[in-house]
Amino acid sequence: MKRIILFFIVIFSVHFAYSQETVIEKVRNDISIWGEAKILIPKDEIYDLNLLAHTISLDYPKGNNWLGYVNEKQYNNFLALNLKHSFFEEQNNSKALTMALTMAQMNDWNRYPTYEVYDSIMRRFAQAYPSICKLDTIGFSNNNRLILGLRISTNPYQDIDKPKFCYSSTMHGDELAGYVLMLRLSDWLLSNYGINQRATDIINNTQVFINPLANPDGTYAGGNSTVSYSRRYNANYIDLNRNFPCPINGSHPDSEQWQVETLAFMDYVDSNEFSISANIHSGAEVLNYPYDFYYSTEKIHSDSEWFIDVCSSFIDSIPSSAPSTFFRDVVHAGYTHGGDWYKVSGGRQDYHTYFKYGREITFELSSIKLLNTEELNNYWGYLKGSLISYIENCQKGLEGYIRDSATNEPIRAKVWVENHDGFNSEVYSKSSTGYYYRPILNGNYIINFSAEGYITKTIPNIQVNNGGITIQDVFLAKRDIGLEEIEAENEFNIYPNPGKEIIKLSFVKSSGGKTTYFIKNSLGIEIIRGSIIDKTTNIDISNLNRGVYFISVGTRVIKFIKE
Ligand SMILES: [Zn+2]
Repeated sequence: MKRIILFFIVIFSVHFAYSQETVIEKVRNDISIWGEAKILIPKDEIYDLNLLAHTISLDYPKGNNWLGYVNEKQYNNFLALNLKHSFFEEQNNSKALTMALTMAQMNDWNRYPTYEVYDSIMRRFAQAYPSICKLDTIGFSNNNRLILGLRISTNPYQDIDKPKFCYSSTMHGDELAGYVLMLRLSDWLLSNYGINQRATDIINNTQVFINPLANPDGTYAGGNSTVSYSRRYNANYIDLNRNFPCPINGSHPDSEQWQVETLAFMDYVDSNEFSISANIHSGAEVLNYPYDFYYSTEKIHSDSEWFIDVCSSFIDSIPSSAPSTFFRDVVHAGYTHGGDWYKVSGGRQDYHTYFKYGREITFELSSIKLLNTEELNNYWGYLKGSLISYIENCQKGLEGYIRDSATNEPIRAKVWVENHDGFNSEVYSKSSTGYYYRPILNGNYIINFSAEGYITKTIPNIQVNNGGITIQDVFLAKRDIGLEEIEAENEFNIYPNPGKEIIKLSFVKSSGGKTTYFIKNSLGIEIIRGSIIDKTTNIDISNLNRGVYFISVGTRVIKFIKE
């Protein structure tokens, strides 16, 4: 009996080893052609999901498996984990992905544009509606394709004092539905200004930014005239939605350099400071709100209730004509706390929300990534009302100006809701005008307004009514310059100095809203740029040549010596 069992064990192991070898061959073959491949890992194989998430680009749970993407380096590291897995081939290769070769062929929004047609449509928006639309070049991809954004407002050539909203889609190049939906939404907004009340109200009250295609090299990996060979990663086979700084795992949680697409978006966010945004994906139908890096039992955002409220409004706006299964494939409610679905480190949502004081939700708009073009009109029908209503959240909350009580000069100040804010959920006013906007639910709040060199002002009893915007202007009085100035915000030290391997950047009080440090050499050339993680941030200087360097945060600069 024992012998028979042993025989079967041997047979089974040989068979398993053989099939794993075939799998590895298939995966490697796909990587050699496409730079990336998809694998399925059985859930019961996974002993440490976070370790796996750090090793490969985890996508979604699929039945009893997890779907993951791997480039060559990720796959080599993955194999070292010794996990059973299979090769995943999408079954939708035969799907109709009809291309529009001319702008006229996009008239019915039931095709995917070629790269050239996309470029023309974006230019056309700005040309046809010059008083309410401007075309921004956010940056360039690795292969020199344009990363474009539309700025839609009553004064698109200026930063005006109205809330800023951003939709950005398809940073995973093979997640196509949002790409065409964003073009169509832009068209709807622009062509309905002065005609449709909702479109008019949005443009009159909000600065809307729309970036339909964040990863053009991924979408057009098969060339500019087709999306049939679109890929998740960028041209360097990097997952852009794992490439951002993480509140926990530091500046480079994926151990990769920031990609040009990532840097372009960081600069875009830095110059625009969006209040509300969405990062649009597909592969599932669900809304995923911050944080991605925590289970809700570990940490929730201070505005969790606000996130849940706007998510449920989005779901409620889906018409009953949509299939009953629509937006039900992950959770019945149609929305989830990100980390409770699965944890992501280096995603843009947590970057935007934590480091940039924004409120970003990840929208997963269609279960099928390479959505059949015949479905595009249906998806617009299902999602139009929801996509519009999410922008309308900018017409609710608290806003005002923060100025110097003696000079009336604008002040960049922190707006902190007592007994509510924490973990960077506060917002800041603009230094150029003192304007601030704080999305928040109905309620009665105590709010602190503080700025360096000014006496903090606490205003109790601010009643926010969600029917519209509540206005609260604030004047701050200068503080006498005394000893307490030494402990000002944004004041930092570094040690050890001179240093060799790691130096610590440590704030005396707090970083005062600053999230980035810069290291320049004695010629003034930027050598390192990194994210401020906490009150104390470790900086690796082991790769620097010996010499004198300058580290800066905001306007403060400290000289240090690398030994
Ligand atoms: Zn995605």
